[in-house]
Amino acid sequence: MPHFNKKMISFFMTTKCNLCCRYCYNADERRAITEQTIPLDLAKAGIDWYFANTPYRHIRFYGPGEPTQAFEEIEEISAYAKNHPDRGVDVTSEIQTNGVFTENVRDWMLDNMNIMWMSFDGMPEIQNYNRPLNPLFKKVFGGKTSAEVLENNVRWLINNKGNRNLMVGARVTITDKTIDKQKEMVDYFYSLGIRHVWTNPEFYEVGRIPVCQDEIKKKGFHFDMDKYVKYYLEAYQYAKKRNLQWGSFLTINFDGESPYHCRCCDPKSAPHLTPDGYISACDMVVLGEEAYHMSPFIVGKWDFEKKELFWYEDKVSALNERKATNIAHCKSCPAKCHCGGYCLGETVNTTGHLDGQDPVKCKAIRQLFEKLGTCEPYPYLHP
Ligand code: SF4
Ligand code: SF4
Ligand code: SF4
Repeated sequence: MPHFNKKMISFFMTTKCNLCCRYCYNADERRAITEQTIPLDLAKAGIDWYFANTPYRHIRFYGPGEPTQAFEEIEEISAYAKNHPDRGVDVTSEIQTNGVFTENVRDWMLDNMNIMWMSFDGMPEIQNYNRPLNPLFKKVFGGKTSAEVLENNVRWLINNKGNRNLMVGARVTITDKTIDKQKEMVDYFYSLGIRHVWTNPEFYEVGRIPVCQDEIKKKGFHFDMDKYVKYYLEAYQYAKKRNLQWGSFLTINFDGESPYHCRCCDPKSAPHLTPDGYISACDMVVLGEEAYHMSPFIVGKWDFEKKELFWYEDKVSALNERKATNIAHCKSCPAKCHCGGYCLGETVNTTGHLDGQDPVKCKAIRQLFEKLGTCEPYPYLHP
């Protein structure tokens, strides 16, 4: 099923976070504002709108910081959706979390989540280097490292899930330092009981200007994509023999056919509600008030006084038009309908345009497509 078919309403819960990841894609953006958590009346109005206007009943919790830092709000939104008179009983739930949460949160997740993607970078020395605990939270976790808390939570959830409909998987950011450790990671995740993993090559943080205009950012970033493809393929084959799904963000559409890359191009079927009261089309655009070059993804707004949602129809239409069959550089690409013009969020952040191109990513996608071709539907789609 192409990623475009992943339909859900996402709640960008809070700007608070308990980690200090080295590559955090929005740390500067979060630091620049006072902490914000999604208003409950917006979340509830979003559910009412989504349930009245679409047949989908999948809800998802995500950043901009760590969603479980707004745990009470997660509980309330979840209860509201599941008790909704319009097919609330059909609701399924997903979260992307850093997995560094307390036992109280963990117990609730066990009984209330169906899909848990742990942002998890692998073996403890890598996890603690890339994703260290914010020192302010040392006491909350009894002096443990982020790896210790996360590992413990993952093992506990997997060992206690019984016959619940719950999948605990890993979403891994691969950096230059870990490209050649992918096989080792397969063994590590396998030993924890994880069977579904999506890897993402490290990407640029979102700032106030596109990366193409930001010489400092370009100079400070390095990722060897050829090396990633080589080691990814090796780990993919190795994982397959162990029945572990080792996915790549570059292959998320290899299991289906679509001119679109992802849900972002049909935001009314997959809205994301931001803590500052906007509707975003994309996981990379987590706040709406000052979206700068990423403003094409802010497709609507919550009117705090009238308590109503408004859609910016011109922006929705512009995203709808963004498909591989319309983009000049994609038209004759052999991977066209299994790529869909690549991730818009990254494309706009890198080039400043909806129809921009990242030739490094294109080369990697084509290489992977040539080697792997199409595949059976993925059991769990990329978050
Ligand atoms: S857990 Fe997420 S939001 Fe928090 S620092 Fe890491 S990447 Fe940033
Ligand atoms: S980050 Fe990329 S894949 Fe994710 S929603 Fe945005 S455009 Fe789609
Ligand atoms: S690989 Fe590049 S050229 Fe091919 S469809 Fe994707 S974005 Fe377009």
